[in-house]
Amino acid sequence: MASVGQTGVVRLFAALQPPDAVLTQLRSAVRPLRTLPGADRLRWTPPPGWHITLAFFGEVPEEKRSALEGRLFRAARRYPAFPLHLAGGGRFGDRVLWVGVQGARRTLVRLAGSAAAAGRREHLGLEERAYHPHLTLARARGRTPADLRPLVTALDDFTGDPWQVTELVLLRSRLPASGVPGEQPRYERVAAWPLAAG
Ligand code: ATP
Ligand code: MG
Repeated sequence: MASVGQTGVVRLFAALQPPDAVLTQLRSAVRPLRTLPGADRLRWTPPPGWHITLAFFGEVPEEKRSALEGRLFRAARRYPAFPLHLAGGGRFGDRVLWVGVQGARRTLVRLAGSAAAAGRREHLGLEERAYHPHLTLARARGRTPADLRPLVTALDDFTGDPWQVTELVLLRSRLPASGVPGEQPRYERVAAWPLAAG
């Protein structure tokens, strides 16, 4: 491992990116939430980075990149395009606020499983925890728990327009290093592979 320097390792995850029109709808739904009591104590995720994680690969060494990408390409084309929509709120304990994902959830869960399997075959350290489709909207800061229940309730009535998922996206995550917010995009599209057409 001594030959793998910091520059040879990137933090990668497979995800879906809803279309801009859906992100715009969600942005409108989220705006009033940010004025609710306690909302200013959360770290809100910036809309341009909004995504639905399929599988998180962690720090991927350079030499595994192309094999991983080949596996993801082959996984993607085994799935037909499928419809999803965003709906309702949810939370992971008192730490993470999210909006739910509905529609062809069985296909989504299988695609996520295939993406995770691609990572496991490259011996990347994936967690075995159950997959819960979601789009993260906000996180508690540090160790301070947050009462997310009113925010979840406020999202009860939200239902976004359906869209057709046509590609699997590989995103790079850059942890904030410079301390200057917004200096570089948090998530960068590394690659995208089409699902099988029709
Ligand atoms: P931060 O870690 O600074 O709060 P983040 O979680 O958005 O930001 P990453 O930790 O790089 O950034 O994660 C990228 C995406 O992968 C996020 O959607 C995150 O929720 C998801 N993710 C991170 N770790 C895991 C994991 N172990 N299992 C499943 N998904 C994960
Ligand atoms: Mg994280």
